[in-house]
Amino acid sequence: MGNTKAAKYNLGCGGECVDSLNCPYEVCLHDQKDVSVRTKQAEARREKVAVLWRSGMTYTEMAKELGVQQRTIARDVAEVS
Ligand SMILES: [Zn+2]
Repeated sequence: MGNTKAAKYNLGCGGECVDSLNCPYEVCLHDQKDVSVRTKQAEARREKVAVLWRSGMTYTEMAKELGVQQRTIARDVAEVS
């Protein structure tokens, strides 16, 4: 019946929407997924930056190696050093 659906909707989006931009709920499942994926990617990148930075790589080299902007590298270095 409608009970399962109602319970799910109380927690916000259940993932039925196409994407978070079109989601009628404030807390969208797609947003939450994106955030956790992004966080994991950022953590993985920071670990790599830490290793490369200690090995003596420059910001430019690391940015090229990891496919991100130097600004991102600089922020990561500041956090790991
Ligand atoms: Zn949604």
